[in-house]
Amino acid sequence: MINRERLIETFCKIVSIDSPSGEEKEISKVFHDILEKLNFNVKEDSYGNLIANDGKKNPFMLSAHMDTVEPGRGIKPIIKNNQIRSDGTTIVGGDCKAGIAAMIEALHSIQEDGTNRIATEIVLTREEEVALLGARNLDFSMISAKEGVILDGEGPCSRITSASPSYVSFDITITGRAAHAGVEPEIGLSSIYIAADLIQKLPQGRLDKETTFNIGLIDGGSTRNTVPHITNIKGEFRSINIETIDLLKTQCLNTINEVQKLYPEAEIEHTLTDDFHTYTLPPNNPSTEKIKKALTQIGLQPTMDPSGGGTDGNVFRLNGIDTTVIGIACRNFHRVDEYVIISELVDLAHFCETLLKDK
Ligand SMILES: [Zn+2]
Repeated sequence: MINRERLIETFCKIVSIDSPSGEEKEISKVFHDILEKLNFNVKEDSYGNLIANDGKKNPFMLSAHMDTVEPGRGIKPIIKNNQIRSDGTTIVGGDCKAGIAAMIEALHSIQEDGTNRIATEIVLTREEEVALLGARNLDFSMISAKEGVILDGEGPCSRITSASPSYVSFDITITGRAAHAGVEPEIGLSSIYIAADLIQKLPQGRLDKETTFNIGLIDGGSTRNTVPHITNIKGEFRSINIETIDLLKTQCLNTINEVQKLYPEAEIEHTLTDDFHTYTLPPNNPSTEKIKKALTQIGLQPTMDPSGGGTDGNVFRLNGIDTTVIGIACRNFHRVDEYVIISELVDLAHFCETLLKDK
């Protein structure tokens, strides 16, 4: 039986262990031990992703990511009414540890009750929050599952992600010419000024229902009184529509060329990277149908919503594993006012239990 108190305890324990992207060693060890106690054969691929298998053929996969975003160090979970929040200085880490806590509780419950479980594979990735790096470096030869569920969506577990965008990141470096700002500004060429001009000419924000564009980071210059030599810009755009992605790539390149012509003495370098690819779940998708059935069995009404974000699901689907992403009882992902709704967390554990019980 799903044990609400134990579930909350597991959640609070695992969010108290820092695991910002790239620093998952300690939390990985904890999950390794827990899964081994649950009689899984636990392995790590060369990138540090955890793969746990019960040795049975044709398993169903449950997957989530181990890393969290910043500010995510020293998280102190606070339980109040039906919610778990941080103290307001950090995220609470529900993304994605609410998913992992629910998964662990379901496995405990099934083991305790002595019920049969379908063949199960657990995949816990690293660095999902860094453009899905862990999944992109995952050793797929170590995975047996052909179907699975990704616990990484916002909202209740009944909320299924029906589509996810393609994502392109870009880096632009502008090199101007340094000069003393008070003595000889005439010989300088301000890379910050050129960057400002370029950014003004690029799109920004929500472009249409399925497309967004953002400049997220800019750094440049060295001191207050020097005409800035180098400025770096980091941005990204995403869309469910592949044609829109191609148009935006062209638009970015054209804008960079246009600005290069305006400032011929500057050097503008750029890279555009396809980080992950869009998908839309087809009708009657097998993993989705299994998930819908389990949701209905516990009295929840499945809903299908497109997401503006990517998950490991984008990479799994590209690698031929049919995965469906569902909600993990959290709201306000990546914010210090992120919170977990306890009753929904219990539902999520019930869902995992129902999905894995061999009927
Ligand atoms: Zn996540």
